[in-house]
Amino acid sequence: MQLNNPLLLRQSCLINGQWLSSAQTIAVHNPATGQMIAQVPKMGAMELEAAIAAAHSVQPSWRALSAKTRSQLLRRWYELIMLNQEDLAHIMTAEQGKPLTEARGEIAYAASFIEWFAEEAKRVYGDIMPHPQAGQRILTLKQPIGVCAAITPWNFPAAMITRKVAPALAAGCTMLVKPASQTPLTALALGELAQQAGIPAGVLNIITGSGREMGALLAANETIRKISFTGSTETGRELMAGSAPSIKKLSLELGGNAPFIVFADADLSAAVDGALASKFRNAGQTCVCANRFLIADEIYDEFAQQFAAAISALKVGYGHEDHTQIGPLIDTQAIHKVEAHIADAVARGAKLVCGGQRHALGGTFFTPTLLTEVPRDALINCEETFGPVAALVRFHDEDEAIRLANQTEYGLAAYIYTRDLNRTFRVAEAIEAGMVGINTGLISNEVAPFGGIKQSGLGREGSKYGIDEYLELKYLCVGAA
Ligand code: ADP
Repeated sequence: MQLNNPLLLRQSCLINGQWLSSAQTIAVHNPATGQMIAQVPKMGAMELEAAIAAAHSVQPSWRALSAKTRSQLLRRWYELIMLNQEDLAHIMTAEQGKPLTEARGEIAYAASFIEWFAEEAKRVYGDIMPHPQAGQRILTLKQPIGVCAAITPWNFPAAMITRKVAPALAAGCTMLVKPASQTPLTALALGELAQQAGIPAGVLNIITGSGREMGALLAANETIRKISFTGSTETGRELMAGSAPSIKKLSLELGGNAPFIVFADADLSAAVDGALASKFRNAGQTCVCANRFLIADEIYDEFAQQFAAAISALKVGYGHEDHTQIGPLIDTQAIHKVEAHIADAVARGAKLVCGGQRHALGGTFFTPTLLTEVPRDALINCEETFGPVAALVRFHDEDEAIRLANQTEYGLAAYIYTRDLNRTFRVAEAIEAGMVGINTGLISNEVAPFGGIKQSGLGREGSKYGIDEYLELKYLCVGAA
């Protein structure tokens, strides 16, 4: 990997300001070629304890800094990330596979959370409330929760980290990050830049190792007061159960099964563009990717035809090559899930319009796929596919569309396309999801609250609400005496 700043390719863990290695390692592979590109430590309970102790001992001095000082340090980190955007994007594409343009975009998106929370750090206000008894005074203040942990997935190796670390540090918390084992290099590079920005030793610790082992230890640990996790619903459940004995606060950003509803009155070409962006970004490997396309009867055939043409034109290739729009899937397990969903849908009577098989490039490259007339009970309509496969279902009226959209235990994102203002609000309010895209397929930014309802999770990331996840509300009652 050719980098302008080779220091960014760290293959050790950041604990208490030191870069530490271990005897056991985890190999990091380029999913496009299968080649090993690096080895990172496989840390265990001892190193985790050391990181927790470091985060714990530095927490009082970190929270005692003025919000303005914490803000300036975060701002500097943000600036360094943007200065190194190109190198970071190359590291990300090498370990994750996404096209370089998407990787550059993710670095800017990831950095935007640090910029945002650097600003929010200065706006953590309390209240003075009217008192019920003469002479009394009632005040509230917000204080950092303490030592926090973040466990993050491989699909957004930078943004899922900064969305958690930036509000935590802004609030005055210290943090341990356990990145996904498939994509630790981007995380470690962010750690290097945090150090260069002057964030004190122990405030941000990045530790690689087995998710199962570290997750259980972090959940059980009593010093850690909060875990913020992004990943599968199943793992979220395990973390929640593991956190019960210590009554730990949790933010969980879990799986989704986003409906994408196109009504007969929609702008069809805008709907096709939105569908393409929502479904095929990151090769379909995002938790807000449209997973069930619900299309009105009247426009179904026209939509399917236009969508098929757009999907067939997508360029599959290596992330580092210009014009690539679809990179490889993360691993063979991902390919197997995609294949199983397609086979199940076809066995139940769905029509395969385009794609449907592995790509000629081999490995984990998969051809973008469109299925139509997909039965409602097909696996692809019940589970998160996490791959470049779009499944179309027909609906007859608005009530049916809403009923189908809500037929899932998930509730993360939903998308609707319509030009009718009354319908927009009726449907958006009826849909059980934390976020609704209206005439757009892209909804994520640092200004808006990101998060789900039902079994898609707890809490919100980004926005003016994001920092509250790392703060406790304290109430002071001043007596009349
Ligand atoms: P994904 O489908 O995104 O890989 P996972 O939930 O398996 O979803 O993984 C997301 C993150 O959770 C990764 O950092 C992974 O190492 C970690 N992880 C995996 N298993 C567990 C577990 N049992 N407890 C805590 N974290 C886990």
